[in-house]
Amino acid sequence: MSVQNVLHLIKEKNIEWVDFRFIGLSGKAQHISLPASEVDEATFQNGVAFDGSSIPGFRGIAESDMVMMPDTETAYVDPFTAHPTLIIMCDIHTPDGERYDRDPRSIAQKAEEYLQKSGVGTTAFFAPESEFFIFDDVRFENGMNKSYFEVDSEEAAWNSGRKEEGGNLGFKVPVKGGYVPVAPMDKQQDIRSEMCRLMAEAGLRIERHHHEVATAGQAEINFRFDTLTKTADNLLKYKYIVHNTAHQYGKVATFMPKPLFGDNGSGMHVHMSIFDGDTPLFYEKGAYANLSEMAMYYIGGVLHHAPALIALTNPSTNSFKRLVPGYEAPVNLVFSKGNRSAAVRIPIAAVTPKGCRIEFRTPDSTANPYLAFAAMLLAGLDGIQNKIDPRKLGYGPFDTNIYELSDAEKNEIRSVPATLDDALDALEADNEFLTQGGVFSKDFINNYIEYKRGEAKSVNIRIHPQEYSLYFDC
Ligand code: GLU
Ligand code: MG
Ligand code: MG
Repeated sequence: MSVQNVLHLIKEKNIEWVDFRFIGLSGKAQHISLPASEVDEATFQNGVAFDGSSIPGFRGIAESDMVMMPDTETAYVDPFTAHPTLIIMCDIHTPDGERYDRDPRSIAQKAEEYLQKSGVGTTAFFAPESEFFIFDDVRFENGMNKSYFEVDSEEAAWNSGRKEEGGNLGFKVPVKGGYVPVAPMDKQQDIRSEMCRLMAEAGLRIERHHHEVATAGQAEINFRFDTLTKTADNLLKYKYIVHNTAHQYGKVATFMPKPLFGDNGSGMHVHMSIFDGDTPLFYEKGAYANLSEMAMYYIGGVLHHAPALIALTNPSTNSFKRLVPGYEAPVNLVFSKGNRSAAVRIPIAAVTPKGCRIEFRTPDSTANPYLAFAAMLLAGLDGIQNKIDPRKLGYGPFDTNIYELSDAEKNEIRSVPATLDDALDALEADNEFLTQGGVFSKDFINNYIEYKRGEAKSVNIRIHPQEYSLYFDC
């Protein structure tokens, strides 16, 4: 959409407010609204000033003057405001007109530019499957308190989900029993359909929605793949609509990776492929899972750099409570056609040459999608450029049940890092792949590590409820 088209849209839709949004380090959207009457061509040329020093993870007071540069391609009408409002995503520039090197959206664009310069291909496509829970507001009745204080095993969690006072099962979804039952087990058909309606109006192409595996309230909506920055923009739109639709229904939606102990968590599997113009570069008929050598090397890069990469794709302390065995979340840094405990899976059902892709299952929605997608692409490109063959490094394929392997074989398999601090250690030791082509700066990486170490520490110094259970009676 050109600037003229946006100005036209403002008139046509009687827009009162133009809401300029940017992304901070955490991946959450921030916004400032201008009266539509104040927005003209000059706004799009000069941008909108804001105070960068008040945004966590950005620079201090000395460099507080920052500028939001609107990307008119991203404009859509806010479905939730009483006053007609147009939302526009922005890049962040310094007052000198340079792209700010801590702006996640600029980093995403630089990663796409780097792909083109590398000669590997022209376009990388991304499709995230971002799972979430819809809980009843105020009291998270779906078991949060139970799981925190009373439930200490999967069996106990299962029982707590099945039993009601008086023994009435009453169409309650048991723990891990939520995969696609019809109503009245599934009580969220309408809320998910409403989310999809609003998403479609806001420009997302919806592919499907369903109840997810965990107990009542876990959901997934899939929207169509797109290029890297556009997909990250789409994900921000997706989360905004999920959160606010739930709010309108008197519920609360969360993308927290593991809100319930003893049940499945919420992942954000990311499907990826590279094209050269119209030609899919990951497809080779008859090869293993119909994957080209290039796709194999891409997998090699992702798995080789996974411990460091995970600091960006799973950047919360809670992320690592999801990455444990038994809940369809990946724990093994291997690839496979079917195995859901593998970090990289190759979908083979109903796949066309153009749809041939790899699925990285580790990420979750606490990731800042601009940073996470850029980092995944750079890890994969590093694999292609250095011909990192995952088969030679013992990363698979593992198409049999990993639990049935001998102990010696299992010992060879690398696991995901156990904690956020472990992932940050890995990122500290392995980040050259991110600075290729100047996509991530060293300053960005150091600042990111410091910022996330602070988060980890803030959790570690607090007293956990389980510590009372274990140690209070000492
Ligand atoms: N919820 C699972 C996870 O944490 C994934 C379930 C699925 O395969 O869709 O990753
Ligand atoms: Mg899913
Ligand atoms: Mg998946």
